[in-house]
Amino acid sequence: MASVSDRQVIKALKKVKEPTSGKNIVGLGMIDGLVVRDGNVGFSIEVDPQRGTELEPMRKAAEEAVRALKGVVSVTAVLTAESSGASPRPSPQAGPPPGPPQPAPEPRKAIAPGIKSIIAIASGKGGVGKSTTTVNLALALAAGGASVGILDADVFGPSMPRMLGITGQPTTRGNILTPMENYGLKVMSMGFLVDEDTPMIWRGPMVMGALEQMLRDVEWGELDIMLIDMPPGTGDAQLTIAQKVPLAGAVIVSTPQDIALLDARRGLNMFRKVEVPVFGIIENMSTFFCPNCGHESHIFSHGGARLEAERLGIDFLGEIPLVIEIRETSDSGRPIVVSNSASPHAKAYMAIAEKISAKLASGSHARAAPKIVIQ
Ligand code: ADP
Repeated sequence: MASVSDRQVIKALKKVKEPTSGKNIVGLGMIDGLVVRDGNVGFSIEVDPQRGTELEPMRKAAEEAVRALKGVVSVTAVLTAESSGASPRPSPQAGPPPGPPQPAPEPRKAIAPGIKSIIAIASGKGGVGKSTTTVNLALALAAGGASVGILDADVFGPSMPRMLGITGQPTTRGNILTPMENYGLKVMSMGFLVDEDTPMIWRGPMVMGALEQMLRDVEWGELDIMLIDMPPGTGDAQLTIAQKVPLAGAVIVSTPQDIALLDARRGLNMFRKVEVPVFGIIENMSTFFCPNCGHESHIFSHGGARLEAERLGIDFLGEIPLVIEIRETSDSGRPIVVSNSASPHAKAYMAIAEKISAKLASGSHARAAPKIVIQ
């Protein structure tokens, strides 16, 4: 079957009208970030943040117009806003609000109400093992009896499909996607909709739009815990997620080297500024065990994260060594917590998961049922 082209998508979108002006959404310059690959189509529609709810039917109409094209396998349209309106969390730069009181925000729609606690797994930069940690922690939490989901928000390099050995695409029921599942985890990732190798250009608001849609239009059901595999770094996209998703807490993954370079500290400060409790820091690739002789060496000056955590007054959740088995298992879709659960490395993940569960249970970080809002 011939794949659909960008031009065909644009042509179909020209038939969709912005309701107030009656003009087509392509002509109005509202379409952005169009990605078409093997019949999977994604794009964003830029709207005034105040009109998000009102323009939802337009978003649906845009999706339906594209879905009707021959060769289209999936369509993901997200509403994005150049500037956000009222925010449930303070902005890091926010001072006292100027002028008279603002009018009450538009009614907000809660989504993913069945998810009890959402935890962000973050890192100051890429390649520190954030996704590997996320997947193993999720499995360890599930092994402890929790129902767990992973939202792969690392849209710049979604790796969950590979790490969980999931291929294929989510099925849809109307406009609702069924999350993919493996090893008892429910998972949603842009990687299911676009290829892992596809370079994608994302801006902060687009990431939030895609994330909101992956929360709202996915049948998550009841979950005790959702882990969000955050995009690496502390830019706009990360900040927007930290501000808008009601996170129960955040966990920072760092290599000893990365903590020395202040990257992880930046991540920590970002969550602190938007008042998300930081559960603690995990030192990954801490100690290297030679696979031949078992000799232990500290390639990246082991122990930095523990010291740094002490200095910063946050908990040190544990350390994971640099071992080839962790790399091989996570890269081949059989994470170590399921493929070799008796190994000391799997136990290290489980011990960290227990600490995270204790943080959630202690209530000190508990919040009311999370409400994800669409502006
Ligand atoms: P990030 O999500 O921070 O970009 P990944 O989780 O994708 O990082 O990890 C990057 C690479 O490092 C992957 O190939 C992964 O298998 C490997 N890796 C992660 N943690 C470890 C570890 N503790 N020991 C060995 N390899 C690891």
